[in-house]
Amino acid sequence: MTSRLHFRVEATATDSQARACRFRTLHGEVLTPLFMPVGTQATVKGLTVEDLEAAGSHMLLANAYHLLLRPGTDVFQRFGGIHRFMNWRRSVLTDSGGYQVFSLPNDCVVTEDGALFRSYVDGARIVLSPERSIKTQLAIGSDIMMAMDECVPSTSDHAIAAAAMQRTHRWAVRSLAARGDAPQALFGIVQGACFEDLRRDSADYLTRLPFDGFAIGGLAVGEGRAERERFTALAAALLPRDLPRYLMGVGTPLDLLEAVERGVDMFDCTIPSVLARQGVAFTSTGRLNLYRGVYKLSEDAVDGECPCPTCSDYSRAYVHHLIKTSEALGWQLLGRHNLRFYHDLMSRMRQHIVADTFATYRDDQRLILARADGDHPSTTTPRRRRRRNEGALERFQIRESPEGHASVVHRASGEMMHGGIDPTVEANALYVAQSRLVERLREASAVPFVVWDVGMGAAHNAMAAIRACETTAPATQRPLHLVSFEHDVASLRLALRHALKFPHLHYPAPSHVLRFGEWRSELAPILWTLHEGDFLQHMTSAPTPDCIFYDPFSAKTDIPMWTLECFDSVFAECAEHDTELFTYSASTVVRTAMLGAGFIVARGAPTGRRPETTLAMTAAAAIQAGTRGRVILGAEWLEQWRRSDAKFPSDVPSAGRAALAERIEGLAQFRSGWSPGT
Ligand SMILES: [Zn+2]
Repeated sequence: MTSRLHFRVEATATDSQARACRFRTLHGEVLTPLFMPVGTQATVKGLTVEDLEAAGSHMLLANAYHLLLRPGTDVFQRFGGIHRFMNWRRSVLTDSGGYQVFSLPNDCVVTEDGALFRSYVDGARIVLSPERSIKTQLAIGSDIMMAMDECVPSTSDHAIAAAAMQRTHRWAVRSLAARGDAPQALFGIVQGACFEDLRRDSADYLTRLPFDGFAIGGLAVGEGRAERERFTALAAALLPRDLPRYLMGVGTPLDLLEAVERGVDMFDCTIPSVLARQGVAFTSTGRLNLYRGVYKLSEDAVDGECPCPTCSDYSRAYVHHLIKTSEALGWQLLGRHNLRFYHDLMSRMRQHIVADTFATYRDDQRLILARADGDHPSTTTPRRRRRRNEGALERFQIRESPEGHASVVHRASGEMMHGGIDPTVEANALYVAQSRLVERLREASAVPFVVWDVGMGAAHNAMAAIRACETTAPATQRPLHLVSFEHDVASLRLALRHALKFPHLHYPAPSHVLRFGEWRSELAPILWTLHEGDFLQHMTSAPTPDCIFYDPFSAKTDIPMWTLECFDSVFAECAEHDTELFTYSASTVVRTAMLGAGFIVARGAPTGRRPETTLAMTAAAAIQAGTRGRVILGAEWLEQWRRSDAKFPSDVPSAGRAALAERIEGLAQFRSGWSPGT
C-alpha cells in the first residue's frame, strides 16, 4: 500500500518552497498549509467542537501520553475512539507520547525497550514502548499517528544527538511493525538536533521506510530562531516531495509564515489558546493586549476585518473587562477569535501560493505580524500614584554604588541588596543561569515549573527570571509559576518610586504584582504570584518548588531566615521532589543548617566579590547532579567544618549541638565512594 493519505501537491510557489497540498484522512479532506489546534485532554481549552468547526479547524492534535494516563485506553475502546468520545467528526492526529515522557523532570528511565516512568495520575509505573504508543494511538483512533522518537534538546552535543537519532530509527521500524495493516496513517520523525550530517542521515534512513508523512522533530526545543529556520529549511528539503511535512510545536503566526516559506505543510501549537487566556488577540493589524487599560472604553471589534462571532458581536471594552476579571467567557471569546485568525492566515497563505503571489504576501505579513498594539503603543512608566507609606519606606533607602548601580539598603543594619555588583547581573548569574531555568522551561511539559523567589526585595531575581523566559519564548513553552515571598514589600515600593534608577522595573509586571498579588505574561506562559508576610507561614500554601531562589537579607539583618528550623520547614515542603535551592551565602553556619535539615549541599558558582555560593538539593535532585554539573561538598569540606568554631545555627542550643554534629558526620555525601543515587 502506498500513502494512506492520497496526498497531492496542488501548487508550489516559484520563488520559495511554499506549497499548497491536499490529502484525505479517514475523517475527511484536509488542505495545507494546515494548523492543528492542540487538544491535549481531548478538548481544546474552553472551546466546543462547534466553536472549532466554525473557526475552521479540520484536524486536532491530541496527546497520547495524557490520554493514556487519563481517561485510559479502555474508555476509548468502549467509545470506539476519540471521535465519538468528544463528538468531533473531523480528523485527529496524535503524538506518540515520547516527547512528554522524555521531558519528565525525573523518574523516567529510558532503555532500548522504551521509557519507564511513573503516572502523575495514580503513581503507577508505566513502560511506554513504541509498541505501547502505537497501541494507545490505535485505541484513540486518530487519523494520523506518530512513531515514538527519542527527543533530546536541540542544543545537545553530536554524540548524544546521534545516539538519540539512531534509537529513533530503530523505534521507527518497530512502530511501523506495530501499526501493521491498520488503516491509520503513521508519520516518522526526523531527528538530529542542529547537526546537518545527522539531519541528512535521519532523513535518508527514515524516507526509505513506508511512512505516510514525516515530522521534523527536535526543533523549538532550545535553539534560536535563526537556527530553527535554517534547520527547518534543511530538513524540509530532505523530505519526499509527495508526502506531508509537519513541524511539531511551532509557533507564532510569524513562525508559521517563515516555515511555510521553507516548505512545511502542517503545524500545531498551543499559542492561540494560551495567549487568549492572557488577553492577547492576533489581528489583521498586529497583536493586541486586551488586558491593557487603553481598551477599557473601546467600542471597536477585536479585529474589524475578522468575521468570527467574537468580532461580530462584542467590543474590545467587553473582552477587556472579561479578561481583567478572569472570566472563562473572555478566554473562550478570544480563543475562538485567535484560532480563526490562525486558520484564516493558513488559508490566505494557500490562496497566495496557488495564485503565485506568496512572496509579496509574505513581505507584507512579516511587518504586520510583528506589530503590537499599533493604535495604543505601550508606555513603561507606572502612572498610578500610590498611597504613601513613609513609615515603611523609611526602613529602606536607595544607595548608588560607585559603578552607578542603585540598590535598596536596609537602614538599621546598613545591609545592601546585591551589594557591590550590578544586581541584574548577579540575579542572572546566581539564580537564572545556575538553575538552568531556560533549559528547564524548554521541557515539553504542561506541568508548571515552580520557582520560589524567597526575599523578593526589589524584584531583581523575579524580573531576571521573567525576562529570560519571555525572551526565549516560544521555545520555552513549559509554564513558569514564579512564587515570590516578601515580608516587607516596602523595598519594592521604594524602588518603584525611584524607577528611573532601576532599569529592571521599566516593565508593568512589578507594579502589577504589588497591586493585585499576581501577574500573567502576555509573551510566555508565566504566572507570578506574591505572598506578602511571613515566609514560614506562607510556604505551606504555595505549590511545591522545583527551584528556590533563596535571597533574603543575611542573618545579620534577618536571623529567622537562616535557622535550622527554617531550612527544616523548607525541606519538609520538597523532600520527595526534585528541588534545588540557590543562595548567595557560602557560610559554614548556613551550610550546616541545610545539611542538618536533610539537604545534600553543593558549591555554588562565584558571583561578584563572592568566590563561592551555595546550592542545596533534595535526593531526587542529587540524582541529576552529574548531568547538571553540580559539585557536591565532600570529605575535604567536612575537614574544614570540624575545624570551624562558628558552625552551628543560632537556633541550635548548646545541648543540641553534639547530636547535630553527629548527624553531619554521618551524612552519606561525606562518605568516600558515595555518589548520588547509591
Ligand atoms: Zn475575530
